[in-house]
Parts: sequence; structure tokens; C-alpha cells
Amino acid sequence: MKLTAAVIFCVGVNAGSAIVVASEPVVDRQMVITFDDLPAQRAHALPEERISAINQDLVRLMDAQAIPAIGFVNENKLHVNESADVSRVRLLELWLDAGLELGNHTFSHPDLHRVALGEFKQDLVRGEQISAELLAARGRALRYFRHPFLHTGLDLETKLAVEDFLAQRGYRVASVTIDNSEWIFARAYDEALDRRDHELQTRLAREYIGYMMRMVRYYEGQSTELFDREIPQVLLLHANALNAHHLGELVESLRLRGYRFIDLDTALKDPAYASEDTYTGPGGLTWLHRWAITHDVDRSLFQGEPTTASWVQELAGIQE
Ligand SMILES: [Zn+2]
Repeated sequence: MKLTAAVIFCVGVNAGSAIVVASEPVVDRQMVITFDDLPAQRAHALPEERISAINQDLVRLMDAQAIPAIGFVNENKLHVNESADVSRVRLLELWLDAGLELGNHTFSHPDLHRVALGEFKQDLVRGEQISAELLAARGRALRYFRHPFLHTGLDLETKLAVEDFLAQRGYRVASVTIDNSEWIFARAYDEALDRRDHELQTRLAREYIGYMMRMVRYYEGQSTELFDREIPQVLLLHANALNAHHLGELVESLRLRGYRFIDLDTALKDPAYASEDTYTGPGGLTWLHRWAITHDVDRSLFQGEPTTASWVQELAGIQE
């Protein structure tokens, strides 16, 4: 929602006469922060202390800033030697004890575009065991599902079958509007951590914040094109060291841009999220683009998406 407020500056030189009235747009923006791949992205490649620190840092930040974030769990990452590891499960409890939300991101992060529907469903159910128990112990229920890779089906039949299955089990699909390449920055940052190169870590963090703010502005524009207003945005991030160390800077930049942070439930109540989505295809797309495709909006809308600097991609060993 765009609001315009008259900002009145009193210039105290000649009290009573020198009042300057200036008009400045005040924008009330809303965002949900979501983290995928809990307890940590690439957990298999990380030392235990880093996995633990990532969760502690993220929860501390969300708690201190009163940000009602949600984390989507891959329960296979709670397993060490075939059984659930108590200290990793404890990391999820940190989220719940801070009043944060947890969602299901499947057990082992299968790609719906590569596995059979039955196998995908099985993995989805296997992925809810521990989280559901932790939530139930606090009088809460598992309510949200995030598709791995944002892959929702190569054909409409599969897409609808998964959506029906989710609805039957009491889930809502956790749409994403601000998709991005944060995961590439995170991979590069892990490399900089392994090298113990502090200067490189700082340089990466600065590049990351600039990139993310460009991405946020891009999706604000997409929202305005589609809905004639800025809808509450849902930001996709991951549980990783980059965010554990530098998300505070991103949050500060977002607040300066007028963002306040809301929970997923509130965002999904916005009528925009009831828009029809019949997109099928290989892309793991933002829902803004799914809605645009469903409504046959000119694809030129998608132009101008910010890119990831090549030095970051090289450091991450990933070509976008
Ligand atoms: Zn994921």
C-alpha cells in the first residue's frame, strides 16, 4: 500500500511563521522472511559447530528484531548415523521456543521433476515426523509446505495431485515471491570461511546486501505491474553462515526501505495469494511469475532481473 503523508518540518528560526511543508512518500511495505533447508543448507559438508552456530545466530537475530520468521526443515539432516540426533533436534526447538514457525520441506529434498509422485509423497510424509511432534508438544501443528527447488510439477495432473495431498494433510503451500540466488552467495561465503579470508567475507557480504536490495526493488516493480500495488512479499533465504553473520545488515536496509516483517499466515491472507496458478514447467519460479504466466501477461515483464556478479559465481563454483 502506498501512502503519502505530509511531513512537516518546523524551522525554529522565526517561531510561528517559518513552517515548511514538504511532501514525501511513506511506503508501508510488508515481508515474510523464510529460511529453507533447516537445520542448515549443505549440512553434510559442515562441521557440527557451524550448524549449531547458524541456528543460534539466526534465532537470536529473529528474536531480537521480533521478526516472525519460518524455517522449512529437511528432517534427514537431523539424522546422524541413521537415527535422529538429539542436539540437532534441539536446534529446531530453539526456533519454536523463540515463537518462530517451522514448516515441512520434505525429508530428503527430492526433486518433484525427477522422482515418481508416490516416492515424493512418501518423502513428504517422512519429513514431518519430528517437526510435527515438536509442534504438537507446544500445542501447535505443522501447517506449511515448501516445495524443494520450488518445483511444483511438470504437468498439471502432478501439480494438482501434490496440492490435494498437501491439503488433505492440513498444509498450505508456502509461496515465494522474492526468489533469488542467495544460495550462490552462501556457497561462496562458506568458501571464504574455509579460507579464513576475512576481507573476502566482508566483500561478499557487501555484495550480497547490494544484490538483495536490487532484487527486492525488482520484485516490488513486478508486484506493482501485476497488482497495481506492492503485495506483502515472501522472501526465500536458507539457513546458512552468510545469513547467520550478515542478515542483520539486510534487515536494516529493508527497514530503511519501509519494510516491516509479518508472519506467513498474515501474508497469505492477502487476496493476491489466492490468484490462480496453473503454471507447469521446469522452472522453480517465483509466484509473481506463475501468476503472470497463468494470466497470460506479456513476458517482457520478467526482464531486468538482477544478476549475480561473476566473481561470486566463480568463488562458489557455480554458473547460474
Ligand atoms: Zn531447499
